[in-house]
Amino acid sequence: MARKPMMAGNWKMNNTVGEAVVLTQEISNQYEKEWPESVEIVICPPYVDLKPAKTVLDFDKTKIAVGAQNVYWESKGAYTGEISVPMIKEIGCACSIVGHSERRELFGETNEDVNRKVKALVEGGLYAIVCVGESLAVRDEGTTDEYVTAQVRAAFAGVDASDAAGCVVAYEPIWAIGTGRTATPEQAEAVCAAIRATLAELFGGEAAEEMRVLYGGSMNPGNVEGLLAQPNIDGGLIGGASLKCESFVQLIEACL
Ligand code: PEP
Repeated sequence: MARKPMMAGNWKMNNTVGEAVVLTQEISNQYEKEWPESVEIVICPPYVDLKPAKTVLDFDKTKIAVGAQNVYWESKGAYTGEISVPMIKEIGCACSIVGHSERRELFGETNEDVNRKVKALVEGGLYAIVCVGESLAVRDEGTTDEYVTAQVRAAFAGVDASDAAGCVVAYEPIWAIGTGRTATPEQAEAVCAAIRATLAELFGGEAAEEMRVLYGGSMNPGNVEGLLAQPNIDGGLIGGASLKCESFVQLIEACL
């Protein structure tokens, strides 16, 4: 079974509620009812924008899913500042990004934290978009595949194949995020193929063939075609280019 590509927009800490409603409405206005046959679309706004964005999409009956950018593994309690899986689930989120390199670098998120978050999401019936990726130092050392596949193993430790099969892995080389410097299609494909081989080792070939592996890192309408042409790249996790309706829609249309 061919994997359906995914375009997921990571808005990061951008857009107030008012701005989020405008951008979601702009995307919804461009929505074509043929899209869902060919591409799965997700937007991941900041927490405060999740409900307003979901309301716009539900009102328009637009088949674009909403996801969080992060989630905590406990379901409730004295965890000031955190947001749980049941909370994002009630809003109607389908998923959450976990382990984004900005969270790992700026907020000290560890592989163990990522694993707890993946488990909490799948136990709650949501899926995880698990971000992995190497720094420039790791790439220069020549240990990218080992580094990235170790992140994949750690993220999915103790997760069974049926839960993992619904999850998505996003390969995001840190040196390509927000820098305008994209991995070449060949560089991205090599790591995405190594990720899929690791998923096959962990969960068997069938689950690994079902799981989507995305590329993220300065993906834009100018470079998307070459990246999507690679056999192990099933779409994109998009930062900057997801903040403008026009470029995000162009990326969606590249999947059709
Ligand atoms: C990201 O942060 O997930 C990302 C891929 O950002 P950008 O597209 O801006 O490089």
